[in-house]
Amino acid sequence: MFQNSQDVFQLLSEAISEGILIVDETQTIIAVNTATEQMFGFSKDELNNQPLLTLIPSNFHKGHGHHFNTFYKHSEKRTMGKGRELYGTRKDGSNFPVEVGLNPFNVGEKKYVMALVIDITERKNYTDRLEKTVDERTKQLREALEAEKELNDLKTKFLSLVSHEFKTPLTGILTSTMLLSKYKLEAQQDKRDKHIETITSKVHYLNNILNDFLSIEKLESGKINYKFIQFNLSKVVNEVIYNANMLLKEGQKILYPENIDDITLIQDEKTVELALSNLVHNAIKYSPEQTTIEIIVNQDTKNTTFKVIDNGIGIPEKDQKNIFNRYFRAENALLDQGTGIGLNITKTHLENLGGNITFSSIEGQGSTFIMTIPNTVK
Ligand code: ADP
Repeated sequence: MFQNSQDVFQLLSEAISEGILIVDETQTIIAVNTATEQMFGFSKDELNNQPLLTLIPSNFHKGHGHHFNTFYKHSEKRTMGKGRELYGTRKDGSNFPVEVGLNPFNVGEKKYVMALVIDITERKNYTDRLEKTVDERTKQLREALEAEKELNDLKTKFLSLVSHEFKTPLTGILTSTMLLSKYKLEAQQDKRDKHIETITSKVHYLNNILNDFLSIEKLESGKINYKFIQFNLSKVVNEVIYNANMLLKEGQKILYPENIDDITLIQDEKTVELALSNLVHNAIKYSPEQTTIEIIVNQDTKNTTFKVIDNGIGIPEKDQKNIFNRYFRAENALLDQGTGIGLNITKTHLENLGGNITFSSIEGQGSTFIMTIPNTVK
């Protein structure tokens, strides 16, 4: 067909950077331009008089005949593959995404189709990248939103906890001060002493809660500065035992190692003390009168391990997985005062220092908490 107009086609098509393909009604390629050669890696000679399917990935062959015939019958200008992704096949067998515009035309009695082919690999890559970025941003936003929600939940919990945990001791303090003013006689000194003791212990309790909250704040904002020094473990254990003795219930006693004078650690002393005293205080609080609490200390070449064993109320199995979550308190612990903060802080501290904490417990029988800490900072 192009014998006469070959030159005109040549002239026009070579000036265009899109691939141009002309096919006849049998889907045979009649002519292509240089851009098509470059895009598909075939020479003009290799393409002319070849079936159009040469340039279409084999998995699209089946559908293509039908699409072509429908289009051919209606013979109107349109883009190809609406709603579908189109691909071309190169000579080396690789596929690439394309966009194709179809332009039917007649020469005499014969119908032809001119296809304008654009390689959209770059555009698709860009779109894919854009979609990926949008996905990532969406994910980040969702995470930020969740974090914000979690923070809000924590704040709500914190407020209800503060109002509850502070109200009871404050009411106790108020009652004691009121009663104190009533005992005016010298002979009533023991009654006054009792109320002063109540007030002191409740103020201590409130102070401890506040310290816990402040620790959380510090831990979260990363403002914590550990101070690593060498110290004797016996000093820490003695300090913890001394303070714990004041909290013991009727008939409770603590067994602790007395032969640890030569054990030293290079660690943050205050934090080790805080962690151990937290475990011992819990053991006292969650054990009834007349029970024994045992502290066992072991040191190997790398780590020092503390076991705190009690014969207390234990932790119900269903609550065990949550025990280190902040503000979590087991069902059977709710009659005792507490905030559910101590173990959470202890765990975070220990992990910061390269250690860890685990426990085993049987409800109604007792619990063993085990904390491990490296002998020295790395
Ligand atoms: P708090 O004692 O203020 O509630 P903790 O974080 O120290 O907070 O402990 C969290 C929860 O773990 C407690 O409320 C209690 O349910 C449980 N728990 C901790 N230690 C023991 C223990 N020795 N025996 C039984 N339950 C314990």
